Amino acid sequence: MGEIKRILVTGGAGFLGSHLCERLVEQGQDVICLDNFFTSQKSNVDHLLDCHNFELIRHDVTLPIWLEVDEIYNLACPAAPGHYQYNPIKTMKTSVVGAINVLGLAKRCRAKVLQASTSEIYGDPEVHPQPESYRGSVNTLGPRACYDEGKRASETLFMDYRRQNKVNTRIVRIFNTYGPRMHPFDGRVISNFIRQALHGEDITIFGDGSQTRSFCFRDDLVEGIMRLMAAPDDAGEPVNIGNPGEFTIRQLAELTIELTGSSSKLIQRELPEDDPKQRQPDITLAKSLLGWEPTVPLREGLAKTIEWFRSIDMSHYRPPTPNY
Ligand code: NAD
Ligand code: UDP
Repeated sequence: MGEIKRILVTGGAGFLGSHLCERLVEQGQDVICLDNFFTSQKSNVDHLLDCHNFELIRHDVTLPIWLEVDEIYNLACPAAPGHYQYNPIKTMKTSVVGAINVLGLAKRCRAKVLQASTSEIYGDPEVHPQPESYRGSVNTLGPRACYDEGKRASETLFMDYRRQNKVNTRIVRIFNTYGPRMHPFDGRVISNFIRQALHGEDITIFGDGSQTRSFCFRDDLVEGIMRLMAAPDDAGEPVNIGNPGEFTIRQLAELTIELTGSSSKLIQRELPEDDPKQRQPDITLAKSLLGWEPTVPLREGLAKTIEWFRSIDMSHYRPPTPNY
């Protein structure tokens, strides 16, 4: 390893952030994890607290912070629809004001800064699969807009700080990612289905279940974003990271039942407003720029995630919002 870097991970106690912190601590980096614990809990990083190269700060990214760092991964933002729609104004502030604060910090420290953007910026896409050049189809007025438009604005800010202030920026567009340490009550499809299957509850398919998603295992995703941070400094354009393996929600429900051995039944619930009908990443750019591609197929990643869900005591997890 080269010189030890001081690395800030905002949202570092979350599902993806905690795994990223773990990887960086293992590398021997000097890691600062910043989180307000809105959708996470300290237990996600408990095992890191005694490491000499790990530090935990309770802070809200909508407020400025003065630190000295070399790299910033900006992951702070609720990611599950039920979480980001709980307080949509705060969600927008977290994306926009949060981006301004981390970009200001990066500018002062001359740090590299990576924004966790999302496939949601493509909205309900008319182009399939979605390459980075596709500009998206987002309803600016609907219940998902606080998240989609917040992330779109954060991308704009990252590009403008790059052009105007020469900040060394990166943008990753993350497609649906799952794995151990997902919040069991976040309301996302994988956590809902596994929880329901393990408890013998009905599996709730929204709509007819023909809508698709492409699911990436957590470890593949984190590897991809670390490679993007390490990529040449001209890698400022957004990069899709996700697993192109595309499944209908009904297929996911059936696979979850098979892997858990559950006797749960599939039931239909109303499809939420603006729910995208299809989603699949075009990862040509990630392959050529980063030499990255996913290695964990859904069946294998889902089995690992189910194993983790079986190992936890769900009563220790506080549903962050009533919307699960
Ligand atoms: P998560 O909810 O587990 O993690 C987000 C973390 O940010 C949590 O620890 C939360 O407490 C923290 N946070 C929220 N608002 C904050 C604020 N104002 N100040 C400080 N901390 C705050 O979700 P995740 O899946 O780990 O997502 C991490 C990032 O990746 C998010 O930015 C999300 O938008 C993005 N992303 C995730 C996915 C996915 O499928 N997991 C897909 C696309 C994008
Ligand atoms: N979904 C579902 N049942 C659930 C939760 C979600 O059928 O209990 C569907 C949801 O309508 C969407 C897909 O699963 O079509 C993925 O939802 P999620 O909230 O995980 O993420 P999204 O990609 O929509 O942000």
